[in-house]
Amino acid sequence: MLHNSNPQTFLEHKPQAKIGQYNYVYVAPTSSCGLGLFTVRALKAGSIALQVCDRRYFAAARPYAQLRLYGYTHADIFQVGSDLFLPPYGGLDDFTNHSCEPNCGLRAGPTGFNMIALRDIAAGEELTYDYSTHQEHPQEDMLCQCGAPTCRGVVRSFSTLPQALRHRYLELGVVAAFIVESEERASSTP
Ligand SMILES: [Zn+2]
Repeated sequence: MLHNSNPQTFLEHKPQAKIGQYNYVYVAPTSSCGLGLFTVRALKAGSIALQVCDRRYFAAARPYAQLRLYGYTHADIFQVGSDLFLPPYGGLDDFTNHSCEPNCGLRAGPTGFNMIALRDIAAGEELTYDYSTHQEHPQEDMLCQCGAPTCRGVVRSFSTLPQALRHRYLELGVVAAFIVESEERASSTP
Protein backbone atom coordinates (compact mmCIF):
# COMPACT_ATOMS: atom_id res chain seq x y z
CA MET A 1 0.00 0.00 0.00
CA LEU A 2 2.92 2.31 0.47
CA HIS A 3 3.01 3.28 -3.18
CA ASN A 4 -0.71 3.75 -3.63
CA SER A 5 -1.13 7.24 -5.06
CA ASN A 6 -4.93 7.40 -4.80
CA PRO A 7 -5.60 10.50 -2.61
CA GLN A 8 -8.84 9.04 -1.25
CA THR A 9 -7.10 5.91 0.02
CA PHE A 10 -4.30 8.10 1.30
CA LEU A 11 -6.71 10.12 3.48
CA GLU A 12 -8.32 6.99 4.87
CA HIS A 13 -4.96 6.18 6.47
CA LYS A 14 -4.99 9.35 8.55
CA PRO A 15 -4.08 8.33 12.12
CA GLN A 16 -6.73 8.90 14.77
CA ALA A 17 -4.88 10.14 17.84
CA LYS A 18 -6.77 10.03 21.12
CA ILE A 19 -7.85 13.46 22.38
CA GLY A 20 -6.68 12.67 25.95
CA GLN A 21 -3.13 12.76 24.70
CA TYR A 22 -3.48 16.50 24.22
CA ASN A 23 -4.87 17.48 27.64
CA TYR A 24 -1.77 19.34 28.70
CA VAL A 25 -0.58 21.01 25.50
CA TYR A 26 -2.00 23.81 23.42
CA VAL A 27 -1.23 25.65 20.19
CA ALA A 28 -0.47 29.39 20.34
CA PRO A 29 1.51 32.03 18.42
CA THR A 30 5.27 32.13 18.97
CA SER A 31 7.45 35.25 18.80
CA SER A 32 9.17 34.31 15.52
CA CYS A 33 7.95 30.96 14.20
CA GLY A 34 4.21 31.17 13.54
CA LEU A 35 2.20 28.81 15.69
CA GLY A 36 3.85 26.45 18.16
CA LEU A 37 3.05 23.78 20.75
CA PHE A 38 3.06 24.83 24.41
CA THR A 39 2.69 22.99 27.72
CA VAL A 40 0.03 23.86 30.29
CA ARG A 41 1.91 22.20 33.13
CA ALA A 42 5.51 22.25 34.33
CA LEU A 43 7.53 19.19 33.34
CA LYS A 44 10.50 17.51 35.03
CA ALA A 45 13.51 16.52 32.92
CA GLY A 46 12.97 12.99 31.60
CA SER A 47 9.19 13.08 31.85
CA ILE A 48 6.84 12.60 28.90
CA ALA A 49 5.56 15.93 27.59
CA LEU A 50 3.33 14.36 24.95
CA GLN A 51 2.57 10.80 23.98
CA VAL A 52 1.01 9.94 20.63
CA CYS A 53 0.11 6.27 20.36
CA ASP A 54 -1.82 4.86 17.44
CA ARG A 55 -1.20 1.49 15.83
CA ARG A 56 -1.90 3.08 12.43
CA TYR A 57 0.42 6.03 13.08
CA PHE A 58 2.83 5.11 10.27
CA ALA A 59 0.16 3.97 7.80
CA ALA A 60 0.23 7.36 6.03
CA ALA A 61 4.01 7.26 5.47
CA ARG A 62 4.95 7.93 1.84
CA PRO A 63 8.14 8.50 -0.21
CA TYR A 64 9.36 12.07 -0.44
CA ALA A 65 8.58 12.51 -4.15
CA GLN A 66 4.98 11.43 -3.62
CA LEU A 67 4.38 13.92 -0.80
CA ARG A 68 5.90 16.68 -2.95
CA LEU A 69 3.25 15.84 -5.55
CA TYR A 70 0.60 16.30 -2.85
CA GLY A 71 2.04 19.81 -2.30
CA TYR A 72 3.86 19.33 1.00
CA THR A 73 7.24 20.99 1.58
CA HIS A 74 10.04 19.48 3.59
CA ALA A 75 9.13 21.66 6.58
CA ASP A 76 5.65 20.07 6.69
CA ILE A 77 6.62 16.43 6.82
CA PHE A 78 8.19 14.13 9.42
CA GLN A 79 10.80 11.62 8.32
CA VAL A 80 10.32 8.06 9.58
CA GLY A 81 12.52 6.08 7.15
CA SER A 82 15.29 6.64 4.59
CA ASP A 83 12.63 7.64 2.05
CA LEU A 84 9.46 7.57 4.14
CA PHE A 85 7.74 10.65 5.51
CA LEU A 86 4.55 11.39 7.42
CA PRO A 87 2.49 14.38 6.29
CA PRO A 88 0.64 16.57 8.84
CA TYR A 89 -2.38 14.62 10.13
CA GLY A 90 -4.45 17.09 12.12
CA GLY A 91 -2.95 16.50 15.58
CA LEU A 92 -1.76 19.37 17.76
CA ASP A 93 1.74 17.94 17.50
CA ASP A 94 1.75 18.99 13.82
CA PHE A 95 2.59 22.44 15.20
CA THR A 96 5.74 21.40 17.10
CA ASN A 97 8.56 23.72 16.05
CA HIS A 98 12.24 23.01 15.62
CA SER A 99 14.87 24.53 17.90
CA CYS A 100 18.65 24.23 17.70
CA GLU A 101 18.53 24.19 21.54
CA PRO A 102 15.40 22.13 22.12
CA ASN A 103 13.76 21.43 25.45
CA CYS A 104 12.35 18.08 24.24
CA GLY A 105 13.36 15.09 22.17
CA LEU A 106 11.30 12.52 20.29
CA ARG A 107 11.47 8.78 20.92
CA ALA A 108 9.54 7.29 18.03
CA GLY A 109 8.41 3.69 17.72
CA PRO A 110 6.12 1.60 15.54
CA THR A 111 2.96 3.05 17.13
CA GLY A 112 3.83 6.74 17.52
CA PHE A 113 6.22 8.65 19.73
CA ASN A 114 6.94 10.00 23.19
CA MET A 115 8.08 13.60 23.42
CA ILE A 116 10.54 13.63 26.33
CA ALA A 117 11.52 16.73 28.35
CA LEU A 118 15.30 17.13 28.06
CA ARG A 119 15.37 19.57 30.97
CA ASP A 120 12.91 20.96 33.51
CA ILE A 121 10.26 22.94 31.61
CA ALA A 122 8.06 25.65 33.10
CA ALA A 123 4.30 25.87 32.53
CA GLY A 124 3.61 28.01 29.47
CA GLU A 125 6.91 27.25 27.69
CA GLU A 126 6.93 26.28 24.04
CA LEU A 127 7.87 22.62 23.43
CA THR A 128 10.49 22.14 20.72
CA TYR A 129 12.73 19.40 19.41
CA ASP A 130 15.69 19.37 17.03
CA TYR A 131 14.31 18.33 13.63
CA SER A 132 17.80 17.15 12.63
CA THR A 133 17.41 14.21 15.04
CA HIS A 134 14.77 12.87 12.62
CA GLN A 135 16.20 14.05 9.32
CA GLU A 136 18.65 12.34 6.97
CA HIS A 137 17.78 13.46 3.48
CA PRO A 138 19.47 15.53 0.77
CA GLN A 139 16.64 18.08 0.78
CA GLU A 140 17.89 20.55 3.40
CA ASP A 141 16.16 23.84 2.82
CA MET A 142 14.41 24.65 6.08
CA LEU A 143 15.75 27.91 7.46
CA CYS A 144 15.84 28.33 11.24
CA GLN A 145 15.29 31.49 13.24
CA CYS A 146 15.04 29.83 16.65
CA GLY A 147 17.14 32.59 18.23
CA ALA A 148 19.38 30.19 20.18
CA PRO A 149 23.03 31.32 20.49
CA THR A 150 23.97 28.06 18.75
CA CYS A 151 21.35 28.41 15.96
CA ARG A 152 22.62 26.57 12.88
CA GLY A 153 20.62 28.72 10.44
CA VAL A 154 19.51 25.82 8.24
CA VAL A 155 18.03 22.56 9.52
CA ARG A 156 20.18 19.86 7.96
CA SER A 157 20.55 16.09 8.21
CA PHE A 158 21.66 14.41 11.43
CA SER A 159 24.96 13.35 9.82
CA THR A 160 25.94 17.03 9.38
CA LEU A 161 25.72 17.85 13.11
CA PRO A 162 28.92 18.30 15.16
CA GLN A 163 30.07 14.95 16.55
CA ALA A 164 29.58 15.99 20.20
CA LEU A 165 25.97 16.98 19.50
CA ARG A 166 25.31 13.72 17.60
CA HIS A 167 26.66 11.78 20.60
CA ARG A 168 24.51 13.77 23.01
CA TYR A 169 21.31 13.09 21.07
CA LEU A 170 22.20 9.40 20.60
CA GLU A 171 22.84 9.01 24.35
CA LEU A 172 19.53 10.69 25.11
CA GLY A 173 17.79 8.16 22.83
CA VAL A 174 16.00 10.84 20.81
CA VAL A 175 17.34 10.02 17.33
CA ALA A 176 15.13 8.30 14.75
CA ALA A 177 15.67 4.53 14.56
CA PHE A 178 16.43 4.58 10.84
CA ILE A 179 19.27 7.06 11.48
CA VAL A 180 20.64 5.08 14.45
CA GLU A 181 20.66 1.93 12.30
CA SER A 182 22.51 3.64 9.46
CA GLU A 183 25.07 5.08 11.94
CA GLU A 184 25.62 1.59 13.36
CA ARG A 185 26.03 0.15 9.86
CA ALA A 186 28.55 2.87 8.99
CA SER A 187 30.57 2.32 12.20
CA SER A 188 30.69 -1.48 11.67
CA THR A 189 31.90 -1.14 8.06
CA PRO A 190 35.69 -1.67 7.93
ZN1 LIG B 1 18.07 27.48 15.13
